[in-house]
Amino acid sequence: MQEITLAPLPYPQDALEPTISAKTVSFHYGKHHAGYIKALNGLIGGTNYEGKSLESIIRDAIEHRDTPAFNNAAQIWNHDFYWNSLAPAGKGGNPSPELLAAINTSFGSFDSCKAALSEAAVKRFGSGWAWLVSDNGKLAVESTANADTPIVRSGVKPLLVIDVWEHAYYIDWQNLRAAYVKAIVDKHLDWNAASRRFAR
Ligand code: MN
Repeated sequence: MQEITLAPLPYPQDALEPTISAKTVSFHYGKHHAGYIKALNGLIGGTNYEGKSLESIIRDAIEHRDTPAFNNAAQIWNHDFYWNSLAPAGKGGNPSPELLAAINTSFGSFDSCKAALSEAAVKRFGSGWAWLVSDNGKLAVESTANADTPIVRSGVKPLLVIDVWEHAYYIDWQNLRAAYVKAIVDKHLDWNAASRRFAR
């Protein structure tokens, strides 16, 4: 059968240290993310999902109210996007002029945008995600619970995400989610990638 595969990390497992240790990545990528892949492949084998793209599986699972398939497929998508929202310290660059203009329109300033994203990440109750999205061309910050993902909404294009499930930070930061979020927002967001996504 055609299986969903684990995409390679875009950097070595220790590339985000000390904010995110290699040990955290080894569990988060190697156990949690890989675990969603294994679970999804177990669910879709021999079904109408088999051979479909991850995005199609997510949409079909919503249509069929198939929560297990949705949760695993969306978590795979969200984690791929998370690893590709981060960069080693100093490597994430800055928003392109076009993205910066949109940031200024929506948030007033780049600092206010980062503050809004941080607040969404810190205040997400329980497990979930904080996103910077382009909603039909207008930038917005939002958070989603558990596996929920903004890609299912028409016209919404994610630019960056922060994982605030405890497995993302507990080894390195224990209960200090705000400190993890601050370190991510200050040092590790890949604004080059966000700029490319915004331009598409
Ligand atoms: Mn995670």
